[in-house]
Amino acid sequence: MERTMVAARLHALHTPMTLDTIPVPKPRPNDVLVNVKACGIVPNMGNVINNWMTWFPHQPLPKFPAIFGLDPAGVVEEVGEAVINVKPGDRVYVSPLRSCGSCQACRSGHRSLCRYYTLNGYFSTSRDGQRIFDLHPYGGFSEYMTAPEYALVNIPDNLSFEQAGRFGYLGTSYGALKNAGAGPGQVGLIDGITGTLGVASTVLGLAMGLSRILGTGRDENLLKRVKALAPDRIEVMKLDDGSTGDWAKSLTGGEGVDFVISALGAKAPAATMQDSMKGVRRGGKVVVVGGVAEDLPVDVKWLMDEQVQLIGSNWFTAAQGQEMAEMVRTGTIDLSYLEHRRFPLAQVNEAISGLKDRDGGFSNYVVIP
Ligand SMILES: [Zn+2]
Repeated sequence: MERTMVAARLHALHTPMTLDTIPVPKPRPNDVLVNVKACGIVPNMGNVINNWMTWFPHQPLPKFPAIFGLDPAGVVEEVGEAVINVKPGDRVYVSPLRSCGSCQACRSGHRSLCRYYTLNGYFSTSRDGQRIFDLHPYGGFSEYMTAPEYALVNIPDNLSFEQAGRFGYLGTSYGALKNAGAGPGQVGLIDGITGTLGVASTVLGLAMGLSRILGTGRDENLLKRVKALAPDRIEVMKLDDGSTGDWAKSLTGGEGVDFVISALGAKAPAATMQDSMKGVRRGGKVVVVGGVAEDLPVDVKWLMDEQVQLIGSNWFTAAQGQEMAEMVRTGTIDLSYLEHRRFPLAQVNEAISGLKDRDGGFSNYVVIP
């Protein structure tokens, strides 16, 4: 008899997902079958489901009925015949980054530069991504999913599935810090430090040896909570309390910070980012991992004179995910700051729409299939 599973599926835009009973998929030769134990929800999921087709028609969604779910973690139950390094019983985080695997970018290890780059269970960044969705139709809002071996991160026993469901945000922040060249002795400015990417960047930046982290945000209580993570190494400033760029320079003897991580929200004015950029030192880096509401006017003469680099950063590699898992295993990073809000699969719609009430970057919304 065919085994079945329950999956939350979206049948049409502007309708709730429904719980459907469908066959458990068989992994193809290079795939594994994962029993999903937790799947993180990102605040943007509601937008993807309801508005993406209108806002970004060039970025495909999975075909309906679709199983969404970006950040799954679980236990490998079965492996395809060509799988070499993963075995049943392994605890894994499944990075949703899918790509063709054979283009020049993929073969050189830069899967996020592939023209097929697709975030499984979410949306594709590429017009060509529909083909990838057709090949990988299972997201994390399901009891089981298949995933290619290349996308797996082995997670240690001291990393809970709920914490692993946060790896998308953590990894995106880690990728940004790597692109910033973050390391011991440096000072970084994180714009939007109280948000999901901001808090994650702070925790990882401390672990990577930054001497000091400066951060900006709007919510005073959340700013206090971020500062409390490491009061001796973190300074915070409320946006609207003056120039963030001048503040960053004043705290670094006029020199400026080594890098800025711009983790602002999609509604933030470009002027906020423009101001903070001016707080970077000569030769410093500005890494964009959030977004702002409008085009950014950049003084390119200043960029040239100061030899500042403006860098776009997006997701992370499975290998970087493995580095984070190792940092958890050794106690180098502590994810106990995350406050989990767990929802059974039957409440996936409530979970997605309830995300507005979150406590900045401290709340972790997870669906437990
Ligand atoms: Zn490729």
